[in-house]
Amino acid sequence: METIASVSENIALVREEIARAARKAGRSPAEVRLLAVTKTVDDDRIREAIAAGVDLIGENYVQEARRKIELLGRPLPWHFIGHLQTNKAKYAVRLFDLIHSVDRVDLARELDRRAAAQGVPLKVLVEVNVSGEASKSGVPAREAPALVRSIAEFPRLSIRGLMTMPPWFDDPEEARPHFAALRNLADEIRRERIGNVHMEELSMGMTNDYRIAVEEGATIVRVGRAIFGERPV
Ligand SMILES: *Cc1c(COP(=O)(O)O)cnc(C)c1O
Repeated sequence: METIASVSENIALVREEIARAARKAGRSPAEVRLLAVTKTVDDDRIREAIAAGVDLIGENYVQEARRKIELLGRPLPWHFIGHLQTNKAKYAVRLFDLIHSVDRVDLARELDRRAAAQGVPLKVLVEVNVSGEASKSGVPAREAPALVRSIAEFPRLSIRGLMTMPPWFDDPEEARPHFAALRNLADEIRRERIGNVHMEELSMGMTNDYRIAVEEGATIVRVGRAIFGERPV
């Protein structure tokens, strides 16, 4: 993870790893989209990532994303992956193609209201705290089906799947049961056949554990440091 290596070389390496993990699990690499996480990354390196062929860009902070999107435009879809404050819903609806982090009804209600005001539909994922860690955002797994049913009532929102962020492990293999749990939860919810709910995306896996996430069914991996190097602390 040297910052010296070029962004495009790093992306090529991550792509190879994704392909290897997918094949190992009997999946097609084309089922997995690479989302470049660009929080704190400067504009030129984001341009490099876009030119090198990432599929999606992900930002954690609304203000930072707003500036970058105004500057760089939308050559690719921008996704919101951070914790979303309800009072930022208005901007989020305008700026992003998919919100990964909807974890409560009041946020969904506000997003629906803002989407209605702007006359646009909005795609969302429901963020699940599969590990049950107290410090993590996301709805607890056992409450996720009920939350999905509630959000499905909002006519402007379209639920496309689930997102999770497991705890940090030195050995990424330990994240595997958390990824499998998210996949099983999506299967369970899919079987309910709730209108307006499409359980097709599993947003899971970051720099340290994206290979395992791909083996367990990720359709979007969110990778920052393996592409751009370590972030400033
Ligand atoms: C920062 C972040 C990532 C990327 O983490 P890396 O370790 O840099 O790959 C992925 N998902 C979320 C929600 C993040 O906040």
